[in-house]
Amino acid sequence: MDTVTLIPGDGIGPEITRAAVKVIEAAKVPIEWEYHEAGIKALEQYKDTLPPHVLESIRRNKVALKGPLMTPVGSGFRSVNVALRKELDLFVNLRPARSFEGVKTPWQNVDLVVLRENTEEFYAGIEHYIDTAKSAAETIGIVTRSGSERIIRYAFEYARREGRKKVTVVHKANILKFTGGIFLEVAQSLAPGFPDITMEDKIIDNMCMQLVLNPRQFDVIVSTNLFGDILSDLCSGLIGGLGLAPGANIGSSVSLFEAVHGSAPDIAGKNIANPSALILAGALMIRHLGHAPAAQKIERAVAAVVKDGRSVTFDLCPQKPVSTMEMADAIIEKLDLARG
Ligand code: NAD
Repeated sequence: MDTVTLIPGDGIGPEITRAAVKVIEAAKVPIEWEYHEAGIKALEQYKDTLPPHVLESIRRNKVALKGPLMTPVGSGFRSVNVALRKELDLFVNLRPARSFEGVKTPWQNVDLVVLRENTEEFYAGIEHYIDTAKSAAETIGIVTRSGSERIIRYAFEYARREGRKKVTVVHKANILKFTGGIFLEVAQSLAPGFPDITMEDKIIDNMCMQLVLNPRQFDVIVSTNLFGDILSDLCSGLIGGLGLAPGANIGSSVSLFEAVHGSAPDIAGKNIANPSALILAGALMIRHLGHAPAAQKIERAVAAVVKDGRSVTFDLCPQKPVSTMEMADAIIEKLDLARG
């Protein structure tokens, strides 16, 4: 039995976490959940958005599933999500984007994976106003050779392991000659070690246009932190929106699984959020724990419910939506049918 740290999170977090736990338990994956609060609830209870005992629990269990966490705006708090990734050195942010039958999108059969560097550059929190009048501000984005090497090497190894053919390295080295330059140079130096994988590079602005024009030309995409964040939301949009986009934050010893979306305060507490992204993040997690058949069963059950279209939340069917838990129950009903 694996023990997993479970952080319900803020906003819609508790609703979608309840749904994800119910589906994982229905798939009969033996997991003991260790519940901990972080974010706004932890701030109220412990005066700290990321209490040390939460980090200790994740370090001990090595695997965590978390709902979205809200960062209080304008009050000097650093993002809890960024802090978690930095503290646990979760240098890979893996965000798959795969088309679902039954969801109306301009493109079908999209199957992409965005790998985003998760600890460096503009998310390192090195920023300040240049004077007391706040007349200008400066954010420093540091890109290291070692940080670039570990994410780009991960991208090549991931492509090889998953039977994928191409890695597209996205950068802005024509303008960001030093930071973008290092990222591109490292990719070019690693590529000859992976002769079975095609490597190409694209400048971020062209990449965005190419993704919209024809996403099927891409396979594995790897980029620096900010570009990777934006690209992965773009890819989520290509397959039908944030309600269907899971993510994993992976380090050398710890992995943390979550939805790409945030805490959605506009719909929190209404039991209408789409639980699929977190359920699919749960599937990524149980595959990581060695339960590939159960993970596949869950992924197929989600796909079947989305395709059927009768038991989906408002983001997928505004005319006749069901609630968060009703969608989770429909997924559970399909679990056994989704075998094989
Ligand atoms: P958001 O992703 O929370 O919401 C964007 C839009 O998508 C909203 O209209 C929301 O209702 C909708 N949406 C999101 N998830 C949905 C779901 N499961 N089902 C249906 N609709 C869904 O982004 P935001 O509003 O920019 O951010 C809100 C808060 O979330 C902020 O405090 C932000 O810092 C935080 N956030 C956290 C994470 C994380 O924990 N990893 C990620 C992004 C944002």
